[in-house]
Amino acid sequence: MTRSLEVGGLDVDRLITDRTRSIDASGIRRAFELGASLKDPINLSIGQPDFFVDERVKQRAIRAIAENRNGYSVTQGVPELRAAIWSNLESDLGWTEASGSDLIITPGTTGALALAIFATVGDGDEVIMADPHFVAYPPMVKVAGGRTVFCDTYPDFRMTASRVESLLTPRTKMVIVNSPSNPCGVVLTQRELDDLSQLCRDRNVLLVADEIYEAFTFPDAREDGRCPSAARSNPSLLLVRGFGKTYGCTGWRLGYAAGPKPLIQQMAKLQQYLYVCAPTPLQVAAVECFDVDLAPLIAQYVRRRDMITDALRGLVDFAVPQGAFYALIPVTEKGGSTGSAFANHVLDHRLIVVPGKVFSSRDTHFRISFAAPDEKLAEGLEIIRRVLKSGSYADAS
Ligand code: PMP
Repeated sequence: MTRSLEVGGLDVDRLITDRTRSIDASGIRRAFELGASLKDPINLSIGQPDFFVDERVKQRAIRAIAENRNGYSVTQGVPELRAAIWSNLESDLGWTEASGSDLIITPGTTGALALAIFATVGDGDEVIMADPHFVAYPPMVKVAGGRTVFCDTYPDFRMTASRVESLLTPRTKMVIVNSPSNPCGVVLTQRELDDLSQLCRDRNVLLVADEIYEAFTFPDAREDGRCPSAARSNPSLLLVRGFGKTYGCTGWRLGYAAGPKPLIQQMAKLQQYLYVCAPTPLQVAAVECFDVDLAPLIAQYVRRRDMITDALRGLVDFAVPQGAFYALIPVTEKGGSTGSAFANHVLDHRLIVVPGKVFSSRDTHFRISFAAPDEKLAEGLEIIRRVLKSGSYADAS
């Protein structure tokens, strides 16, 4: 066998671990590359907000750099952002530092998830997550030496306590719940989240609540005006939230984790040696984020969600998104085809969607992101309608 990874006489192939080698390159990245290569694509594949960072937040970042806030921060994060997050956690969830909780600011939500997994999951330990799920969870578990256990949530995509319970074993260390969810846009109810967190507490398993899309919970899923959260009045889990998606600054790499102090301390130890800290001037600027009015943006996402439901009414039954900016749409009900075949077929119309198998063991759906301009979304939906109606994609695989 020829070694494709030999460079300058160095056999790089031999150096790569089996764990790393076995990780598949993200299908989303592939869609991203396609987007770059197609001329004038209708790109509904990208999970990146289509708005700019608020002017005050930008100006605070520029000032922080000018004020020489450019060195390392303490691993846990700059005091002013920590204080702003604490006050948000207190008013939103009823958490206080006195409840035995702590928090750490991390490079993106990804940073928080990785620290949590590396701190708790060892060889052979099991992590339960929904199928379908966010793409980064399984590779992180794999690199940690753990084993992913998928909770089948089709067709409504609700990861409920009753679906999780039979999957718990003595090796289960963690359950990851993501609501509002990527790739489905599904928001669990407060009751469903409370039941799940009670189950995890009873079995001494860490519940990780990935709430990166918490701010984008649509009015129909809000309860008492708020996003249902497993962390409401419940500091026994690890809450993970971020700034990138909510405030349009995914490239700033800012997120945080809050939870039991002994766990956060272990995560902080890892962060000290892995990333040191999140970018200091951007942490300073993020304090301004809490004053940004998100209402117009949420209204825009709700309008786009409604465009999708209007366009697909009567054509396919799908879980109507109640949050985030994704919809996962089935293709197989009538066509007998795959999500991949559909995604390939619509490429001929310059439309990029992501096959559901990127997030799932099944290839029965495709994901669209509605973090895209209205005109592009409308154009894309017209193509989707036409292709779903004709069923012609069924032969395309
Ligand atoms: N969790 C979910 C569910 C996501 O969709 C994403 C980003 N697509 C992340 C975590 C990671 O976000 P960040 O950019 O903050 O690392």
